[in-house]
Amino acid sequence: MAEYGLWYDLSLPRVAAQRLWPREALRWARLRPGPLPEPRFSGGGWIRLRPRLAGICGSDTALLLGKSSPFLSGLTGFPAVLGHEVLALVDSPNAPWPRGTWVVVDPSLACAARGLPLCRFCAAGHPERCARRDEGSLGPGMLLGYHPDLPGGWATAMWAPVGQVHPVPSGLGERRAVLTEPAAIVHHGLGLVPARPERLLVIGGGTIGLLALGLALERWTGITADIRVRHAHQAELARALGASAVLPGEPGALESRIHELTGGRRVPQLRVPGIPEPPPFFTDGYDLVIDAVGSAATLETALAAARPGGTVLAVGATGPVRADLTPLWAREVAVVGTYGYGPGDFTGALEALGEQALPFERLVTHRFPLPAWRKAVRAAVRHRRYRSLKVVFEIQGGRWEGGARDVALAFSS
Ligand SMILES: [Zn+2]
Ligand SMILES: [Zn+2]
Repeated sequence: MAEYGLWYDLSLPRVAAQRLWPREALRWARLRPGPLPEPRFSGGGWIRLRPRLAGICGSDTALLLGKSSPFLSGLTGFPAVLGHEVLALVDSPNAPWPRGTWVVVDPSLACAARGLPLCRFCAAGHPERCARRDEGSLGPGMLLGYHPDLPGGWATAMWAPVGQVHPVPSGLGERRAVLTEPAAIVHHGLGLVPARPERLLVIGGGTIGLLALGLALERWTGITADIRVRHAHQAELARALGASAVLPGEPGALESRIHELTGGRRVPQLRVPGIPEPPPFFTDGYDLVIDAVGSAATLETALAAARPGGTVLAVGATGPVRADLTPLWAREVAVVGTYGYGPGDFTGALEALGEQALPFERLVTHRFPLPAWRKAVRAAVRHRRYRSLKVVFEIQGGRWEGGARDVALAFSS
């Protein structure tokens, strides 16, 4: 195989089995090395790129573990070569930059990329809300990397609309640059927050949570920015990024911190046999809580930890959950959902990642060659065991090396 990528084939029996036996889901995750599709574009303006680093996202691992909600299934097309967090080299004579220029890719497949007249959301500057992501000759697919004819970055070559390719500022460094797409998600989400928060809590110490902490501290200088994480290596980096306090998972820690910050207290609640324990009721709390996990437990905690009239920013790709939403209405908490990015979020993210005082590069903990995909996915899923945050593929040559180069190439910090 000359040009190849890692394909995800949607198998409903496998997804059903992974849902029935979640403990086996990782062992049953599959990618298939295979030749790249003949690219099919609508309109001109696409250029060829050579991916060099491509991240593994939580939405990729959710897909591989059979955990994704079918809610978006009408807007995705499989099989697909995955990978939407891409640092690449320009490899096109018709690009406005010389061959070999380092670039990052906005993978959105909204009206502009499809060569369609803009829908009303795209026309208003919100391609992330596009109404036509299953229309035109491209057919369904929300992003490069979730489209059968347009490979993502887990490949030796890919194609992107030239208007969605952004040169990397010189001196940024590859480990910071490969974080541009997740940082653009965070940049976009923070832009949806109605007012500057004086007190912020981030729930979750993964890539998105730690980026949210760093970008929030850059955007709103001087705020109190706390974070709740599960693992020691996440806590370490959170402190290095400037967290005001790093809270452990126990609810008692949140209670005493809210009391310390606001004087708020926890109101006693009934414990009813046979009914799940309700979320704690605090009389005060954080102006903004960012849920960067998206589980039932973190959504409940976020709603409980926000002050009355506060905001929860749901950036953790919440799927099907059973949660007690009483605090949502009883405390007038606004839940703001966020997805993707609009114009300006990639340039904003590149600028934010350039802040040298914040050690964003330490977020990229592991890199693997494409043939070691099995180990790469394992490292991306098992955070505690691997002490992993962002795991990336490093694409070197144009040839499938096959076999068992199942070795992690360590980044020197
Ligand atoms: Zn992603
Ligand atoms: Zn549109």
